Parts: sequence; C-alpha cells; structure tokens
Amino acid sequence: MDTLELEAPLRTGLFIGGEWTTSAGGTAPAIDPSTGRELASIAQATVSDVAAGVAAAREAFESGPWATQPPVERGRVLLRIANLIRQRAESLARLESLDTGKTLRQARADVQVAARYFEFYGGVADKIMGETIPLGMNMTDFTLREPIGVSAQIIPWNYPLQIGSRGIAPALAAGCTVVVKPASEAPLGVLQVAEIAREAGLPPGVLNITPGRGSVVGDALVASRGVNQVTFTGSVQTAIDVERRVAENLIPTVVEAGGKSPNLVFADAEIDAAVRGVLNSIIQNAGQTCSAGSRLLVQDEVHDEVVGRLVEQFSALRLGPGIEDLDVGPIISHVQLTRIAEHVDRARDAGAQILVGGARSDAPELWGGFFYQPTVVDGVDRSSAIVQEEVFGPVLSVLRFRDVDEALSLANDSEFGLIAGVWTRNIDTVMRLSRRLAVGQVYVNTYGAGGGVELPFGGYKRSGFGREKGLEALRSYTIVKNVCVLHT
Ligand code: NAP
Repeated sequence: MDTLELEAPLRTGLFIGGEWTTSAGGTAPAIDPSTGRELASIAQATVSDVAAGVAAAREAFESGPWATQPPVERGRVLLRIANLIRQRAESLARLESLDTGKTLRQARADVQVAARYFEFYGGVADKIMGETIPLGMNMTDFTLREPIGVSAQIIPWNYPLQIGSRGIAPALAAGCTVVVKPASEAPLGVLQVAEIAREAGLPPGVLNITPGRGSVVGDALVASRGVNQVTFTGSVQTAIDVERRVAENLIPTVVEAGGKSPNLVFADAEIDAAVRGVLNSIIQNAGQTCSAGSRLLVQDEVHDEVVGRLVEQFSALRLGPGIEDLDVGPIISHVQLTRIAEHVDRARDAGAQILVGGARSDAPELWGGFFYQPTVVDGVDRSSAIVQEEVFGPVLSVLRFRDVDEALSLANDSEFGLIAGVWTRNIDTVMRLSRRLAVGQVYVNTYGAGGGVELPFGGYKRSGFGREKGLEALRSYTIVKNVCVLHT
C-alpha cells in the first residue's frame, strides 16, 4: 500500500487474547473499490479461531480485572484509545478511505467520530448507576447495573470505524468484553483500532477481532454459547438469520438494519438549506448509509423548484477515488454496484422518470472501480420498489404531497423507520410530525448531528430494535440485578 504511511504496522491478522496471530483459514484480499486493486491480505478466521476469541473474551470477563476494577480505570483506558485515534487521525482516515472508497473528508469525519465514541463512553464508565427503591424503614432495596458479559459484534462495510467504535466503546465502558467480526469488504479500520486499544493498555482478551466471512465466522460467533449479547448492523435478511441463531441461546440483541428515510420539504421551508440537506443526506458515502435520506417528499408548490435545483446540483457532482476527495466515491463492490443498477433499471422499465444519472459512470478512468452516477428518480408510485426498498446507493426517489396529512402518510408508508428530516418554519407542523413519524430519530431543519454520538439511535419496524449511541446504549451492555435486604 504505497499511498499510506502508518505510525504502526498495518494489522491484517486475527487479534485474540491480546496477540496478533495468523489463521489456518488462509487469507482474503481487501479490495480498493476505487480501483478494484488489492490493498492488503486479510487473515480469515476459522470456526475454531472464533471459539478461541470467545474463550479469550470469557476468560477476560470472568477473571478480571476489566469488569471488577474501579470503573474510572476502564474510563481512562478508553480515553487513551480516543487520544491515540486522534494522534493517528490522518493515517487512519487515509486507510479507511482506501478500504471503503469513501471521500477522504468523510473518512476524516469518521475517525473523529470514532475517537468521540471512546471519549464519550470513557467519561461515562464511572457513572453507570443503579437505584434505591423505597420499601420502608426495615427493608433496603437497591439495583446494580452489572456488565452483561461477552458481547459479539458484527460490523458492516459502510462505516467500519464509526460503527465498530459505536459498539465496542459502550460495551467496554460497561465492563463487558468483546469479540468483533468486521465486514469482509472493509476490515482494515477495525483491525487498527484493536492495535490502538492494545497500545492504550486494554488487557488481553478484553477485545478480540476475528475477520472472515459472515456465513462462517459471523454465524459461528453469534451462535456461540459463550456469548451473552449480540450487536448486529447490516441487512434485514442477515439480521433475521442472526436472530434465528441467537434465539437458540436466549440472549439479547441490538439490531440496526437500515432504512428508507424520508426528507419532508414543506413550501414554507428555507429552500436553500433544505436542498443542501437533501443532497448531503443521499450523497454522503455515495448513498451507502443506513440513515441515507433516500426518499424526498416535497410539497406540490415547491416541487419544481426543489427538484430542479437538486438535478442541477446532482449533475455537477464530481466522481472519483475516495482518496482524491472529490464529491462522490465508488460503491463498495461490483455486487453492490449491480444491485443499484438493477433497482434503477427496474424503476425506469416501470415508467419512472430518471432526471439525472441512472447508470454506471462512463468515465474511462473510473472503469477499474465501481462508480454509479448520482441519480434522481421522479414520477414514481408510493408502492414501487424504488420507493420501498433500500437501494444503498446515490439514488434519490421523489414523491409529492399536498398537505401535512399526506406527507405523514407517505413518510410512514414504509417497512423501515430509522430517521426522518422535516424542513419547515411552522412549529405546529414540527410538533405534529415529531409525535407521529414512526422513526427512531427526527431532525428538524437539519439532517444528522455530526455523527450524533450523544443521541440515542435505532429503528422502528424493520429498521431494527435496541438503541445505540448516547447513554441509552449502556442498557444493551448492562443487566440489572435487584438486591433486597431485610434488616432491623
Ligand atoms: P450483510 O450481508 O447483512 O452484512 C453485514 C455484516 O453481517 C457483515 O459483517 C457480514 O459479513 C455479516 N454476515 C453476513 N452473513 C452473516 C451470518 N449468517 N451471520 C452473521 N453475520 C453475517 O450486508 P451486506 O451484504 O454488507 O450489504 C447488503 C445490504 O445490507 C445493503 O444493500 C444494505 O441494504 C444493507 N446494509 C445496511 C447497513 C446499515 O448500516 N444498516 C450496512 C451495510 C449494509 P461479510 O461481510 O463477511 O458478508
């Protein structure tokens, strides 16, 4: 990897019990989606490596000191991880950009958010408190919030550093130990975080990383009897498969399975801001974001103005390798590129108007990579596949509405319910929609909050369940014990 200078050796192995090891499972290439070329060779864990990772995590959980020491000590280790991530921010960002194809500025933002997760939960580690419950003078009742145990975490390829850190940091803060399976398409960022954690003084076995295919490594990990909790981010179908496996062990899960999130633009909105917000929400990470604003719902009176401006701005977007930091990077893989093209082709065949884009990039210099043109699709039916299904690419579908009731009905007409953006100056519209939108987060006159580390995040409906981020995430990694004492 000649474009990269790292402060530490590039880690591509398995991380088990505090040691970097190879595997009998061989290696698989990490591909740069901007060029299609191999970036690095990643060790592939076997089922017995997964068992070793879980055993190391169990041993570290049960024999301490991670779960038993004063929590402030855990917090200090997390803060050291945050500092080391920040010290290595530029090289981590370049690595993440090469591994995922995302623009360098997005990768830089992701690194800062990753550091922020360790900082936020580092500060929280010694503030995880129980309650006392009044029962009268001769009975004292209190609750303890204990770490749940070994957390298994399955990470997707779209924001590996961010999503990896958003699960690892609260689990560690609570006193849990962790086994992570990174995504096959983009494992490098999470592996470097493990090295940083080791350097920051995280005890052996507290964090373990077993890269490899989901169908082998992921499946063995979530099915393991040594695991007490699973955090999964990815597609709905894999989430269902994971839930079936986990049901055998009767353990809790947090599931984040994507969305089809709407931006509702009203005629009284500040149109410049709304257009900017809608554009960013679908173009960020080439639309490969679980909370992408992939549906634009726009009021009749401003439809032509808003859509016209979006088409103009979509046409001006520059595509290029993530590391060159233009406007839009590649899609993660040829498989995903083909899925996106099929979605748009089906919509076109069903009579949709493709106002801009609608095909793979035809620039010869980009043919080695997996680039899809930013696309706006109008004239579609609310029940059509392009409106209902997650495309996971830079593809915006447009629907029009007359009034608040119709906007709400369209917004909630989805099997997903992750987030929604509302663009209006009318406080009654804001409050009415905030209460009635069936989504986990509502943003008003903005979309997202710079990573939103502090804000509870998770889905309604098939977007998933459980909450990550903020203080809410700690509920997933703790279990409440009630102690009742009868005394004189
Ligand atoms: P996916 O297949 O659900 O992969 C997500 C993670 O689950 C990966 O680490 C994957 O490993 C792992 N996995 C696969 N099969 C597994 C199994 N049987 N047991 C345990 N883990 C397993 O998603 P994808 O193929 O990367 O993307 C497909 C679709 O998922 C996208 O089009 C998009 O709609 C959605 N997606 C959503 C998000 C999100 O943030 N919500 C993120 C990514 C993708 P491998 O990498 O080895 O396959």
